[in-house]
Amino acid sequence: MARDLRDLSLCAINTATLGFQAPVEQVIEAVARAGYGGIAPWRREVEGRDVKAIGRRLRDARLKVLGYCRSTYIPASDRAGFLANVEANRRAIDDAALLGADSFVMVVGGLPAGSKDIAAARAQVADATGLLLDHGKGRGVKIALEPLHPVYAADRSCLSLLSEALDICDAIEGVTASPWLGACIDVYHVWWDPNVKRDIARAGAANRIFGFHVCDWLVPTEDVLNDRGMMGDGVIGVRDLRAAVEAAGYAGLIEVEIFSAKNWWKRPMNETLKACAGRFATAT
Ligand code: ZN
Repeated sequence: MARDLRDLSLCAINTATLGFQAPVEQVIEAVARAGYGGIAPWRREVEGRDVKAIGRRLRDARLKVLGYCRSTYIPASDRAGFLANVEANRRAIDDAALLGADSFVMVVGGLPAGSKDIAAARAQVADATGLLLDHGKGRGVKIALEPLHPVYAADRSCLSLLSEALDICDAIEGVTASPWLGACIDVYHVWWDPNVKRDIARAGAANRIFGFHVCDWLVPTEDVLNDRGMMGDGVIGVRDLRAAVEAAGYAGLIEVEIFSAKNWWKRPMNETLKACAGRFATAT
């Protein structure tokens, strides 16, 4: 039976949804006070700060920390650049552990400047994923690959399909009952994929669904990066995809992640948190 998302303990806020209007301490406080069960913070809110203290605040607020967003892009023009990117991600995984995050979210990056070789970029991503999986295991942080809509293949993610993410997981980690490597499924990125339900079932069977992100695809979309809609305002069958993910065995929190420069980011945090709660109940 589908879970009832009027229960906000099943729901989480990706802090980007609130537009980075306030220091993370205030965001944590607002999300907890609104009754949500979890949160997914970003590096820009955390790095250079007292990460341990932020971790304590998250625990005091009794918020589950889902994914820590997000990786430094992997593909580079040369080996030194590649290794520097991997190293930056190791440090971020160290912070994810201090925050108590369940997973580190990998948005893998596109082509290095000047490159026309997407296969080479993908190969670097697979190499780095193996290295970061080892580091994550050592820190108790899972690695979550997030495939992005193919419109971003050049500049943000040469990993576009859920099936590709799962192929990387299988190749690196093999079959295991409790995998450390998996995928975040974001409706914005996968809703159009004719094979998405097949791949959700595959991901669930392998226990590799590490997160489920919701928002909506507006028509028209004015900016594919920062014009995401609230659930129910666009064309994505959000409820249908949630049902598929839960039928596949996903029992984790449902996370709202909305980049919305001209709408939601301009509203007070509490207003957006209230709107999210409403749409979790009626359109998710
Ligand atoms: Zn996402």
